[in-house]
Order: sequence, then structure tokens, then C-alpha cells
Amino acid sequence: MQLTGDGHVHSEWSFDTGGPKSASAGLMDAICVRAVQLGLPALAFTEHLDVVGWLMEEEDLLAEVEIGEQLRSYTDSQGVLLPEPFDEAGYLECVERCRLKFPDLRILSGVEFGQPHLNETRARQIVDLDSLDRVNGSLHTIPVSDEPGAVRAEPGTLYRKWPAAQVVRGYLAEVPRMVEGSAVFEVFCHIDYWVRSWPRDEEGPFNPRAFEEEYRQAMRAIAGSGRALELNVGMTIRPWIPQWWREEGGRAITIASDAHAPGPLANNLYEAMAMAEHFGFRPGRNPEDLWTR
Ligand SMILES: [Zn+2]
Ligand SMILES: [Zn+2]
Repeated sequence: MQLTGDGHVHSEWSFDTGGPKSASAGLMDAICVRAVQLGLPALAFTEHLDVVGWLMEEEDLLAEVEIGEQLRSYTDSQGVLLPEPFDEAGYLECVERCRLKFPDLRILSGVEFGQPHLNETRARQIVDLDSLDRVNGSLHTIPVSDEPGAVRAEPGTLYRKWPAAQVVRGYLAEVPRMVEGSAVFEVFCHIDYWVRSWPRDEEGPFNPRAFEEEYRQAMRAIAGSGRALELNVGMTIRPWIPQWWREEGGRAITIASDAHAPGPLANNLYEAMAMAEHFGFRPGRNPEDLWTR
């Protein structure tokens, strides 16, 4: 079985690898070398695009062992982190260079646009979204309170503040608002993002059944908008995601490792392809195409 394309990969052009002036310089090249070694036929470099900051508390910074100090430099006196704007020109030049250097590898340009429903105007000042091959949409943050203009926070921060179930429900309730509030993204990323940091020491293992109705509602909103759902499998395979996605009318998926380094590239892709086939999804003509049913 030939590998499918990896739909979500980060290089030095994402703030959370350290950026192009850090030790991550050359990461895109290294990932392409690894892709060729693995026989990975295609990948999308979907770099972080964030235009609305989020709360980064001391504990969050300390948890970022490798890039904590750099993240601190992006964080203001109120504790709000906003990375440097995505460097579209530098990124595209790097993509072009890699396309010439690795002619057998199909390289898609793209971004992972965080919270695309909040400030698309600002995003369009930074990058020409329409010229990219793939625009992934992610919900990494939700507001910390109901007050208008409240600062937003990542799940790791909110799990320290709220009961765990409230965090997951708050996230899932915002998914339809993101879907309705933005037409610009094509793929909804890692719907299990908020499961990654689930406080299992206190709560026990995450039980998706406890949030089944909320998850199905979120998936119905995404499917109803005609978008694809990403199976973000680099860390964990979660079969309930494609199962419920299909049952709620989802027609298309991508399969992605979300690798930020060469090592995790294409991780779990073989298993994910078998899982996707089991639920009736089939690859497209080209390895970078969406899988559909
Ligand atoms: Zn993400
Ligand atoms: Zn990502």
C-alpha cells in the first residue's frame, strides 16, 4: 500500500518550531529529505497563521521546554502571546526551492489558520490566502470568560481554571461559530486537539462517549458546510472520529501527522489509511487529494 500525502506539516516558518532564525533553520529541507526516504509522495507545509493573541501564563511558558524563552519574547505584560506575523515571502521562497530540489515530492503550500472566524481581514494583510494550495482551520483557543472581549486561552491553560468537562464543552460549542464565521478554510483540523492535554491524572482516560452529542453536533456543522475533517493521527489514532464523522454526513477527510520535525513525519499514516478505508473513505487520484466517500 502506497502512502497517502501528509496533509499537515510544520517547518521553520511556524513560530512553535522556533522560527527561521532559530536552530530550526533548514527544517523544511530536512523534512523533504525524510519524506523522500519514507516514500511519502506528497505533503502540505501548513504553517501557523495567528492574528489574535492568547493567554500564556508562567506555567504554560515553563511547560515549553525548548521554545519557552522565545514564546516569552512574544508575550506582553498582560500575559498575551501573539507570535511574529507569518513571513509569507520567506516561506514561499523556501517552498519553491524545495520543489526544485525534490521534484518527485509534491509539496503543497498552505497555512494552519488559527481561529479564522475572528480576524480574517488582518490575516489577509499578512498572506494572500487565495493563492495557497491548502488552508487548514484550527480552533486552538476559546475565551476564558463570557465577558465581551475576554482574552482567549489554549486548553492546557483552561484545564487549570475550569472543570475538565467544561473545557471540552466550551471548545465544541465554538466549533459551529468558527464554521459559520469563516469561509476561508477548507479543512477543519484536529478536532481532538483539546483531548491531547486532557488531565488524565485527575480525570482518568478521556471518554469520548461523555461528549458524544456535542462532538456529533460540531461534526454536523462542519459537514454541513461542505468542508473536510482532518484525521490528525501523528500522536494517537482515534477511530470514533471518522466513525462519527461519516455518520454525521462527512464526505471528505485529510490524513495528517502534524509533524514539527522530520522524525514524526507521516507517523501512523499506514494505520490511519486502513482506518479511513474501513469507514468507507477512498483516496483521490493524486496523493495530496482529499479522501472522499
Ligand atoms: Zn494546531
Ligand atoms: Zn499544526
